[in-house]
Amino acid sequence: MVNKEAYKELSAELGSKGVTLVAVSKLKPVSDILALYELGHRDFGENYVQELVDKQSKLPADIRWHFIGHLQKNKVKYLAPFVHLIHGVDSVGLLGEINKQAIKNKKSIDCLLQVHIAEEETKFGFNDQELAGVAEQLLAIDMPWPQVNVKGLMGMASFTEDTQAVRNEFSQLKRLFDRFAPVPFSVLSMGMSNDYSIAVEQGSNMVRIGSLLFGRRA
Ligand SMILES: *Cc1c(COP(=O)(O)O)cnc(C)c1O
Repeated sequence: MVNKEAYKELSAELGSKGVTLVAVSKLKPVSDILALYELGHRDFGENYVQELVDKQSKLPADIRWHFIGHLQKNKVKYLAPFVHLIHGVDSVGLLGEINKQAIKNKKSIDCLLQVHIAEEETKFGFNDQELAGVAEQLLAIDMPWPQVNVKGLMGMASFTEDTQAVRNEFSQLKRLFDRFAPVPFSVLSMGMSNDYSIAVEQGSNMVRIGSLLFGRRA
């Protein structure tokens, strides 16, 4: 079930701040997505390739699909024809594959580089040093991924009650975003249901929110 009141409040609040709301609909039915679509929402986020491909085929073509999960190279081809933004790009190999599939589809594909900011070992992403290496390649004349548009950065904070730790992690990501300003970054994707306020306070301009809108997942 969709919480329409929460949606209206959230989209008004974020809209007034120029922050894009990505409604994370993973594991939720197509009917939930349509309920928000009918209220005018167009940006939806999914984590699993097969589930996304399935939903995309059943839903209106003007939905902007964000892939926010961990993407395996061999699955890029399924998303390439329609994906709006790939958030979790965490290796140079994946950038190469996205470029290859973009060429096959005669288009450019937008993506974000995922940065590892959390304490947890399990979260994917580049570290500062790797990010600097990728930024250097993006600025090179013979840029190796000409049909990939790297629009910005994405990160996930630690899952903790310690709001100061979360604030520090988001602030660290914002500093990296600013530091790589010569690469024309415009999107900073950070913040989920439980920490989006801190993320926005720290400079996020795109939040990915699921459970606040669609209820808890099974
Ligand atoms: C599931 C997920 C979200 C949404 O999480 P909520 O806590 O339900 O808002 C956001 N970002 C990523 C990467 C996710 O996997």
